[in-house]
Amino acid sequence: MNRILITGGAGFLGSHLCEFLLDKGADILCIDNFFSGDKDNIRHLFSHPYFELSRHDIIHPFFAEVDKVYHLACPASPIHYQHNAIKTVKTNVIGTINMLGLAKRTKARILLASTSEVYGDPKVHPQTEDYWGNVNPIGIRSCYDEGKRIAETLTMDYSRQNNVQIRIARIFNTYGPRMAINDGRVISNFIVQALRGEPLAVYGDGNQTRSFCYVSDLIKGLTALMESENITTPLNLGNPDEFTIVQLAEKVLKLTKSSSKITHKPLPPDDPVRRCPDISLAKQKLNWKPEIDLDEGLTKTIAYFKKKLKK
Ligand code: NAD
Ligand code: UDP
Repeated sequence: MNRILITGGAGFLGSHLCEFLLDKGADILCIDNFFSGDKDNIRHLFSHPYFELSRHDIIHPFFAEVDKVYHLACPASPIHYQHNAIKTVKTNVIGTINMLGLAKRTKARILLASTSEVYGDPKVHPQTEDYWGNVNPIGIRSCYDEGKRIAETLTMDYSRQNNVQIRIARIFNTYGPRMAINDGRVISNFIVQALRGEPLAVYGDGNQTRSFCYVSDLIKGLTALMESENITTPLNLGNPDEFTIVQLAEKVLKLTKSSSKITHKPLPPDDPVRRCPDISLAKQKLNWKPEIDLDEGLTKTIAYFKKKLKK
C-alpha cells in the first residue's frame, strides 16, 4: 500500500489532494497546524479507514514511516503569509528541512509545492522554468517568495547531497471550492463580494494579469509529477490562459448576476505586473494540460461559495 504523508493537508489544495489520493487507494497521513487550513475541509474524510489526521506544526520534527511526501504546508495567500512573516520563513526553511530529513530517513519521494512567486515580478513572459526570477529580497512578499526559493534550494541540495528523490512543482494561481472565505485571494474575494452585493475591490488599475488554474486540473498535474520518472528539476503547473484583474472582476459579476460595482484600492507593494506559465515542459513530460476553463471553474466555485455563505 502507498503510505503518503501530506503536509498542509487541511488546506485548500491539501484537502483536494487527500480526497484524490484516498480515491486511488492510498493510505493518507495528513498533518496540519490549522493556521490557514480548516478541519471542515477534511471532516468528510474522518470516517475513511485509510485517513489519519495529526495536528502538528512542521517547524518541529515529525516522525512517521511513509513512501511519499507531498509537502504543501505553508500559508499561500498574501494576507495569511504576511500575518506572521517570520513564521512563514520558519515554515519554509525549518519545516522544509524537517520534511526533507524525514524523506531522507524513510527513503520516501518528496514533492515540494513551490510557486510562481519564485519568478517575482517577472521580466520574462510567459515564465519558463529556466528563468531565475526578479524577486525583491527585503519586501513584504519576501517571506513567501524567498522562503519558497530557499525551500527549492534545500530540496535540490538534499537530492544532490543525499540522493533524496525529489519533485518540485511551481504552482501558478489555483482556485476552487474550499478556498477560505477570508483568505484574501482575488477569486474568493471577488466572488464573496459579488454574492454579498458589495463592491469588488480591484487593487491598482486592474491591468495586472494572472492565469488561473482550476483545482482539479492542478491536483492531476501534481500527482502526475509525483508519479513521473526522473523529473528532478522544477516544473510549472498552471493554466496558461491569462486575464487582467479587471477582466476577472467583470466575469465574476456576469456569472454571479450581481449588481455590485467595481471600485479601486491601492496596489500592494511588489504586486507582480504579469504572470502566465509556460507549461510546455509539463505537456511534454507529463502529457498534462488543464481541461477546465475560467468560466466553468468560476461557475463551480461560485456554487460552493453560495452554499457556504448560506450556512
Ligand atoms: P492553504 O493556506 O489553504 O493551505 C496551507 C495549509 O498548510 C493550511 O492547512 C495550513 O494550516 C497549513 N500550514 C501552514 N503552516 C504550517 C505549519 N507550520 N505546520 C503545519 N501546517 C501548516 O494554501 P493552499 O492554497 O492550499 O496552498 C498549499 C501549498 O501550495 C502552499 O505551499 C502554497 O505555497 C502552494 N501554492 C498554492 C497556490 C495556490 O494558488 N493555491 C499557488 C502556488 C503555490
Ligand atoms: N487583487 C485584487 N483584489 C483583491 C485581491 C487581490 O485586485 O481583493 C489583485 C492583487 O493585487 C493581484 C491579483 O489580484 O494583482 C492576484 O492576487 P492574489 O492575492 O489572489 O494572488 P497573487 O498576488 O499571490 O498572485
